Amino acid sequence: MATIIDGKAVSAFLKDGIKKECLELKEKGVSVCLAVIIVGDDPASRTYVNNKKKACEAVGIISREYALPADTSMAELLALIDELNNDREVNGILCQLPLPKGLSDELVIKAISPKKDVDAFSAENVGHIMIGDHTFLPPSAYPQYCFCGKECVVVGRSNIVGKPMAMLLLQQNGTVTICHSKTKNLKEVTRRADILVAAVGKPYFVTADMVKDGAVVIDVGMDRNSEGKLCGDVDFAEVSKKASYITPVPGGVGPMTIATLLKNTVTAAKQQNGLI
Ligand code: NAP
Repeated sequence: MATIIDGKAVSAFLKDGIKKECLELKEKGVSVCLAVIIVGDDPASRTYVNNKKKACEAVGIISREYALPADTSMAELLALIDELNNDREVNGILCQLPLPKGLSDELVIKAISPKKDVDAFSAENVGHIMIGDHTFLPPSAYPQYCFCGKECVVVGRSNIVGKPMAMLLLQQNGTVTICHSKTKNLKEVTRRADILVAAVGKPYFVTADMVKDGAVVIDVGMDRNSEGKLCGDVDFAEVSKKASYITPVPGGVGPMTIATLLKNTVTAAKQQNGLI
């Protein structure tokens, strides 16, 4: 039976450090502020935004919410982002994705200043991750283990999850394979993995027969099952019998994502105030 990687405990540890950093910044006259934009009334997006706001408050980051109706135009959204880019009191900007139909996630990612892009989604920040000189870590990619020489397989190649995750594993000296919907014989590839990362967006997609005995399984998925309950991309009940370590959903990668977002916001504040 696998050891469960407790993302909540690791993130609690990280948050303690972030809280201290916020206090030190306050003593220097710097208040850290994250602007959070949510468009429409998708319940999952609302839950994620509420969790992020709560986490900000717990460490002493001011969170300013901008809740816009679903019929907001692209021009209105871009105007708000422009205003926040130029607001000296705002250190980080987060726009909860995906946006409602008719609005473009890509245009929003392009519009947010790379200096305030604490999700690290912009081409500039992804580029920094590629060449290994990043200031902002991608929130859902937070490797904590020794990957040296290990076979790492990432299922999913999105710009915001799969690719940055693969880059970080590569920088940590893993031998990395990226799979996607056109990959042939997926099961054969995933069964080679010492470290298997699932970033597919399909509930229970990774089954036990796709996993090597003793593999470390990282489930980035945040999906809804047929009962509408939050679940991951991995069939946790079966895969945990084979893996050596596994992240649960909820309580695995999700809390780490939030901790990384907070850390990036503090880093942005320090950078904007000439403190790093
Ligand atoms: P996405 O943009 O939809 O990308 C999904 C990837 O999975 C694509 O590369 C796709 O391949 C691949 N894929 C789909 N079906 C496949 C199949 N049958 N076999 C192999 N590969 C397949 O999703 P995303 O934004 O990367 O998100 C992935 C998951 O992570 C979602 O559940 C999302 O909610 C979650 N997420 C979690 C966090 C967190 O904090 N834990 C943060 C962000 C996202 P193609 O490229 O060929 O289409």
